[in-house]
Amino acid sequence: MLTEPGRDCPLCPRLVAFLKEHRAAHPDWHNAPVPSFGPIGASLLVVGLAPGLKGANRTGRPFTGDYAGDLLYPTLIKHGFAKGTYGREPDDGLTLDDCRITNAVRCVPPQNKPVGAEANACRPFLVSEIAAMKNLKIILSLGGLSHSAVLRTFGMKQSTAKFTHGAIHDLGPDKPALANSYHCSRYNTNTGRLTEEMFDRVFDSIRKAL
Ligand code: URA
Repeated sequence: MLTEPGRDCPLCPRLVAFLKEHRAAHPDWHNAPVPSFGPIGASLLVVGLAPGLKGANRTGRPFTGDYAGDLLYPTLIKHGFAKGTYGREPDDGLTLDDCRITNAVRCVPPQNKPVGAEANACRPFLVSEIAAMKNLKIILSLGGLSHSAVLRTFGMKQSTAKFTHGAIHDLGPDKPALANSYHCSRYNTNTGRLTEEMFDRVFDSIRKAL
């Protein structure tokens, strides 16, 4: 059964306090754990880091309104994992096709940086998500924290699979494969660590592997 954090999930005191501040300042924002988006029967699960303050935390849909969504959603459309037009708001009519998106940490963290304890506290929701995805074949981790969170979800040591941009790790029988990409954050694209072409190639190989 899929377990989602409640609106007032108490597990991470620092994140609860941060949300409280923003609920007071912006009562019109979502300001709560951001639920996953896309069909539960999908074969691809994209695991991001955490909602951005004025993006997913405001709109309530992963990567929506965040700079990272400007690269992620058009790339998903291009590779047939989404239909429609990405309009930076959850009412843009965009739908995901055979793809679901979630975050390793569901609540917005200060400075976009969740700490290890928060990833640990949020992990049961990722475990539940993965267990509920009966057709899951590939998990794409965006960045190292997401990669570690997924490995821990399977009770696997970090040494089992080293985070490597472009890799698709075989995690063994009865487990989905684990693909890696640098996070499509503004920082990574501005510094050239991740280019559009590099991100495109990640989805090319996922498409081929599915
Ligand atoms: N927005 C999200 O929902 N997740 C990220 O990892 C980045 C931005």
